[in-house]
Amino acid sequence: MNTHSRSKILSTFLFFTFFTFSANPNIPSEKAKRQNDTGQPRNIILMIGDGMGLTQITSAMYSKKDKLNLERFFTIGLIKTHSSDNLITDSAAGATAFSTGQKSFNGAIGVDENKKSVSTILEIAEKNNRATGLVAVCSITHATPASFIAHQDSRSKDENIALDFLATDIDVFIGGGRKFFENRSDGKNLVQLLESKNYTVLNGIENVADRKIEKLACFTALEHPMKMSEGRGDLLGRSAMTAISILNKKNTGFFLMIEGSQIDWGGHAKDAGYVIAEALDFDETIGKVLDWAEKDGKTLVIVTADHETGGMAITGGKFPDQKIENSFIYGNHTAALVPVFAYGPGAENFSGIYQNTDIFYKMLSSFGFSK
Ligand code: MG
Ligand code: ZN
Repeated sequence: MNTHSRSKILSTFLFFTFFTFSANPNIPSEKAKRQNDTGQPRNIILMIGDGMGLTQITSAMYSKKDKLNLERFFTIGLIKTHSSDNLITDSAAGATAFSTGQKSFNGAIGVDENKKSVSTILEIAEKNNRATGLVAVCSITHATPASFIAHQDSRSKDENIALDFLATDIDVFIGGGRKFFENRSDGKNLVQLLESKNYTVLNGIENVADRKIEKLACFTALEHPMKMSEGRGDLLGRSAMTAISILNKKNTGFFLMIEGSQIDWGGHAKDAGYVIAEALDFDETIGKVLDWAEKDGKTLVIVTADHETGGMAITGGKFPDQKIENSFIYGNHTAALVPVFAYGPGAENFSGIYQNTDIFYKMLSSFGFSK
């Protein structure tokens, strides 16, 4: 037998071995692998779990009987979260890294380290005639959503941030913060201005049903929507699916950012129950988005976090009793790497260890846009 035919037999053997082992459920199915194919997504949905590090995810996972929806992803990466002026980022610099590709100072909203405005992925998508949206369970003017649409040198300028919404053609935004649009120190009524720009302005996600909506501004609170533990219910999931449905009807392709806003606040409060309830709510929303994206087949879904909060640890508990004991190092953010999960066309670009700013460039090239 010559070397050639021996290697032919060997490769035939490996071929059959591969297909035999493909039946193993731990190996990504052919369907899952196909959906990670290269190719351009029509839509990109970026989901940010604020303060959602690995312990936040692990605690949610062991608190729940079933698997997390996060376990449906096969492409996973890690990002470095430091800002331009601090090893420990805040949520403004963290979201500005995702939205603009620039490392900036803590507190920066859509501006670079010299306080110069930088185009965001949402604005670039808009310029390329894609529909755009923002969904959060905090004030829509809060650091994370704000960084995708506003340009301010401080995250605390909520009224200026609200005004920046009017400078765009965003199609859908759903979140709290009505007071920054209506009860302003400059006396302007931005709700009226939104209506004059053809927005349907509503209070409460339940009021969206059965309306024909061109552009939607939906306020779910005067400032921040309540916690899960106070009865928020499935507001985030409903808001996310409402936004997707309106954006998808445009038939242009879309960019949508969805934030699990309060996982971080549980960490600041060193309240494990708060963290876990918010992380599970975010995971439920991820499940709904993935179900939709699976059917659509042309949507890239990215789930990540801006940073970890609290130095949260699992220090005890009981398996499989869904009992977890947590502790926190302190009530602030940490610099630990945070995970990235990606699904759909272009997902394979999101594995590896890289900078948070690369999320922007990876989204840009997935869409096929230039800066
Ligand atoms: Mg946030
Ligand atoms: Zn925080």
